[in-house]
Amino acid sequence: MADTGDLAAEREAVIREAALAASRRRRNATGDSAYFCRSCGERIPDGRREAVPGTNVCGFCARQLSGTK
Ligand SMILES: [Zn+2]
Repeated sequence: MADTGDLAAEREAVIREAALAASRRRRNATGDSAYFCRSCGERIPDGRREAVPGTNVCGFCARQLSGTK
């Protein structure tokens, strides 16, 4: 039986890596932030987009992706 904790951690690592890579690409290209969270699809508040240049996830997902629980 698979350990769901391991699976979740593995999926998180993949998502985090993809997010970081996309973030780096985006930052290098324009420094613009995404309008919609690439993780959950929710709109990213303008305040966050301005406060975190190049971000492409909402605050909630950023916390999830950073491993803060
Ligand atoms: Zn999100």
